[in-house]
Amino acid sequence: MTIKIYNTLTRDKEVFKPLEKGKVGIYVCGPTVYNYIHIGNARPAIVFDTVRRYFKYKGYDVNYVLNFTDVDDKIIATAHELGKDVSEVANKFIDAYLEDVSALGVLEATYHPRVTETMDDIIQFIKGLIEKDFAYEVDGDVYFKPRAFDEYGKLSDQSIDELRSGARIQIGELKEDPLDFALWKKAKEGEVSWESPWGEGRPGWHIECSAMAKKYLGETIDIHAGGQDLTFPHHENEIAQSEALNEKQFANYWMHNGYMNIDNEKMSKSLGNFVLARDLIKEHDPKVLRFFMLSVHYRNPINFTAELLAGAKNSFERIETTYMNLEHRKGTSLNLVTEDNGWIEKVASFRDQFEKEMDDDFNTANAISVLFELSKTANLYLESKQTSIKVIQNFQDAITSFLSILGIELEESELLDEEIDALIKEREEARENRNYDRADEIRDQLSEMNIILEDTAQGIRWKRS
Ligand SMILES: [Zn+2]
Repeated sequence: MTIKIYNTLTRDKEVFKPLEKGKVGIYVCGPTVYNYIHIGNARPAIVFDTVRRYFKYKGYDVNYVLNFTDVDDKIIATAHELGKDVSEVANKFIDAYLEDVSALGVLEATYHPRVTETMDDIIQFIKGLIEKDFAYEVDGDVYFKPRAFDEYGKLSDQSIDELRSGARIQIGELKEDPLDFALWKKAKEGEVSWESPWGEGRPGWHIECSAMAKKYLGETIDIHAGGQDLTFPHHENEIAQSEALNEKQFANYWMHNGYMNIDNEKMSKSLGNFVLARDLIKEHDPKVLRFFMLSVHYRNPINFTAELLAGAKNSFERIETTYMNLEHRKGTSLNLVTEDNGWIEKVASFRDQFEKEMDDDFNTANAISVLFELSKTANLYLESKQTSIKVIQNFQDAITSFLSILGIELEESELLDEEIDALIKEREEARENRNYDRADEIRDQLSEMNIILEDTAQGIRWKRS
């Protein structure tokens, strides 16, 4: 089976063809590190981590690059406010970012390049653009000329004249055309700066990604990804810079994730609905947050509400419970049989369906529906009065494998707790039904697990001995 990707550049779903067989290079625009990330920033981190995991599952060797913009106006302003160095502020929020996304199951990138560590490559890139007459220097600033690049506007599907009508030259800017954008900014008094052929200064935002993508993935890359809001001007400018210099297609596939709203409203500081990822992680199980995030297709907008999140929690717990019930049944070996009666084939067909959905532009929303069907079928199996350890193992492997593609690992200890609760419940039911043999059997099983039962006014409590 092949993977299909909706390519923003062609506005079409295309079969993915890697540059090199069995390998895929992905560049994702990372955060500007001047504060803690909000939940909207967590979406691309989770979405493209899932894309990466699925490629890996399909046997690809994935080179995943996500940059940190560790010098820019906002970081400089924050550093100034706090009376700290730019690097101190950047390091603090890089650590915070990694901590937050890792709690959400996001794997570390193959490379996490930083602007301040890529300065030579950025300067070389800009020099090349000036030599080719796509850029010019004026009074210590360097500007790129979109008009010199014929295909400018192709990603965001806008003509250069449409774009021109909305652009203005700011007071103090010495650029030739309102569309021109900065590749290098002359240092202001007291600002952190680097030496360059154009004097002390620092790079503009767009150039870093062109330089980093080239350094870590080559002149043409397989997939470039980021939030939908980056399509213009950021990604449009990256294409212009890279294709002007390298004279090659920059990225074969462009992927963009949709917006995130809070209670149907755009998230913004002025609306006061700015939800930090780390605050949410404190209040909610990060696995549920991730599950919720992936329950909507990545290109669709996602609406974050307490009700929808509670719904996701419920759904996720149903799957966990199924897994735990399977685990429990393995221990009881009720009506042990050796034949699988076609159940293993059924599980395999769910795997096919799951892959079919993921192959179709990483449709995690539908893939999660398949996971539910699998879970329901596992419950039917448990209700049928037979136990084949092999069938149960197949169900469990499929559940953990699907969840792990989605970046969610079930934790042993948590499962164990739930398993104990389920055993206690079953024991009480057995006693109510006067099935004392079964009740005793469970009591022995719990005692082997070093679990002590206590009768309290609120019912049975347990603790580890
Ligand atoms: Zn970028």
